[in-house]
Amino acid sequence: MRICILFLLSLLGHTALAELLDARMHHLRSNGDAEWDEYKNDPIEGARLDLNFNSHKNTNEWTLFVRQRDVKVVWPVQPNGKTITNLFLSEDNLVNAIKIPAGALLDGTNKLSIVGPKEHDDIEVGEIRIENQPRVEALDRGQFTLHVTEHGKASPCRVTIVNSSGALAPARVDAAHAAVRPGVIYLGDGSGVFHLPMGRYTVYVGRGFEYSVSTQHVMVAHDIGTIPNRINVALRREVDTADYVASDTHVHTFTFSRHGDATDEERAITLAGEGIELPIATDHNVVIDPVTPAKNTGMDRFFTPVRGDEVTTGHAHFNIFPVDANATSPNWRINDWPELMQQMRAAPGVKVVILNHPRNIHNHFQPFASTNFNARTGENLRGPEFSFDAVEVVNSSALQSDWMINFRDWMALLNYGYHVTGVGSSDCPDVSLYIVGQGRTYVACDDRDPAHINIDRACENFLRSRALISMGLLAKIKIDNKYSVGDLATNLKKEIRVVATIEGPGWTAVDQVQLFANGEILREEKFAPIYKPGVKKRIEWKIPKPHGDAHLEIIASGPPVTAPFWRIPKPYQPTSTSWNPRVIGATNPIWIDADGDGKFSPPRLQKTSN
Ligand SMILES: [Zn+2]
Ligand SMILES: [Zn+2]
Repeated sequence: MRICILFLLSLLGHTALAELLDARMHHLRSNGDAEWDEYKNDPIEGARLDLNFNSHKNTNEWTLFVRQRDVKVVWPVQPNGKTITNLFLSEDNLVNAIKIPAGALLDGTNKLSIVGPKEHDDIEVGEIRIENQPRVEALDRGQFTLHVTEHGKASPCRVTIVNSSGALAPARVDAAHAAVRPGVIYLGDGSGVFHLPMGRYTVYVGRGFEYSVSTQHVMVAHDIGTIPNRINVALRREVDTADYVASDTHVHTFTFSRHGDATDEERAITLAGEGIELPIATDHNVVIDPVTPAKNTGMDRFFTPVRGDEVTTGHAHFNIFPVDANATSPNWRINDWPELMQQMRAAPGVKVVILNHPRNIHNHFQPFASTNFNARTGENLRGPEFSFDAVEVVNSSALQSDWMINFRDWMALLNYGYHVTGVGSSDCPDVSLYIVGQGRTYVACDDRDPAHINIDRACENFLRSRALISMGLLAKIKIDNKYSVGDLATNLKKEIRVVATIEGPGWTAVDQVQLFANGEILREEKFAPIYKPGVKKRIEWKIPKPHGDAHLEIIASGPPVTAPFWRIPKPYQPTSTSWNPRVIGATNPIWIDADGDGKFSPPRLQKTSN
């Protein structure tokens, strides 16, 4: 089937020709069974799309518009059998504007193919249109200027642009410091001129988890031009994070990791645009300089960059930080953990070692596979005791099908007696496929000047578990109005008072709060989702003092964000075709010294009373 409609657009004194090759969306599957439940009952049209159409030879660059959704792996785009690019790597529903190089189209019949890869992927693709103009012109039928401020000062931000079909829409942006992808634009200085094709758009402006999101409507039409052509947004901070710094302990760049697509300068802009104050640069097996790109873009006003390294071995990945500028990366060929740990601890400057994404499989090795780790007792089945300081329980680029699995593993480690800090991070290597800082850790530390955070103090508090794990919510815990996260609570009365406070912006909600003691749910409340900005929920529980020492944590969660400005991604290595995304806020432990001996004894080492 072939649909061919010609539009003549008389614009700006010249004539542009647009040809709609295909108005429909197609469901393609490259291999295997349905990737997700949503595709199970939806017929597939094949593993590739081929469209025949008539054209003229393009003697200059033309533009191909393609709508796509749920693209996880590489699908080449081929006019007449020659790859000009791939579909944009993104699960999002988006429209991409692709440059067709001069000479790629011929006089007469042409074929456009979108070719399925070997890997397993369900995608939707269609609404394909060609314009006989270069991309810069095809994206410029109207323009508006945006200014974003916080307390009157220009603020870094993320701008998300969606068309009337709900798809991320491509734009061209003039700005001093920007990272631009289809429908996603980070502005370092809060200002930019946006050029858009004809259409109606919803424009979301925000700055990550702690901030409000402003929703604007823009129309670009032939007869009226662009309305409005000037937008001013004043961001509001909705989440009070005083005395905590927003850290993303796991951050990549394409420049140094060679995967994803964010250059080191784009990384600086995206970190500032998501409100991260203490980013740890953790490219693979290399100690990079994250300071220069922050300075070059002016983003060093908004955060304190930390040198780190993702020590990427055949048997697990570890993040180490801070690393001195002149240090070399530890030998990643060592698979023996005690030997590796010695090397990592010996790297100049290093204070913290995190075990990354322990349920992910890399090089056929899964750190917490049942052969390596006893998930009930927390025991290392490979021999010697664990010696890392912290473990990722939320990694927003590598979410698990069962989001609680990492928390259960971590609590088993605590029960065993390991004092390991639970961490949230993003592991983000790109600008828009994942969101940098979506998973993050709030570390107790003076945050009044984000450009000069005391890294030593932050590391000290991180090691003492004075840290909160966040992906859309922030949970805090207080005992007897005195002890908070990371504290040893001693001299307790028969009854103790536990207060959980759950915070978040107005665009996330909480509907469940659980209190855990030694890995078991001690108290739980479920309720209708609360979207209130700031403090969403405060719960006070009076509980009898436990019989033995116990570690207490709060885990709060709520319905997922599905809006395009902060969509929760699908699991990275799914173990199921269904998934249950949630926003999450969790605390690290408060250690309850129930027997009053002045220290915390883990459940494994306690005498059983019966
Ligand atoms: Zn990794
Ligand atoms: Zn990583």
